[in-house]
Amino acid sequence: MKLVSACLLGVRCRWNGKRRAFRKVVALSGREVLIPVCPEQLGGLPTPRVAQEIVGGSGGDVLDGNCIVLNRKGEDVTENFVRGAREVLRIARMFGIGVFVGKERSPSCASKYIYDGSFKGKIVEGEGVTTALLRRNGIEVISEEEL
Ligand code: SF4
Repeated sequence: MKLVSACLLGVRCRWNGKRRAFRKVVALSGREVLIPVCPEQLGGLPTPRVAQEIVGGSGGDVLDGNCIVLNRKGEDVTENFVRGAREVLRIARMFGIGVFVGKERSPSCASKYIYDGSFKGKIVEGEGVTTALLRRNGIEVISEEEL
């Protein structure tokens, strides 16, 4: 049993509300139980929503209060991201989950790369806020690209 970013299974929880399933993740759901979660929705954000990026750091820095998450309008959505991450951790513990398959480049679910906060499409090394919290609690996080 694994936890998975819900959008990877084709759930329409992405920021733009569009469906984008990943074949390998859908195939995996035929072999084992996958629990879909969307930390941004669990944190109280609407769908569709304005695009968001971590500004000035990575997911762990957000958890430590050293940087924030902004949306493209300049609104601070840090609290939603932290709340959603905590809800995902709660679900992981509820089901004894050891692995999360997270969407790469998401400010919540990324495991290796995120956008740099400039909203110019520039990618840097880093992890999402939920990823950071799960890793701090002993849960392995991989991306759909590593399946
Ligand atoms: Fe939700 Fe994560 Fe998918 Fe973003 S990447 S839509 S936060 S599940």
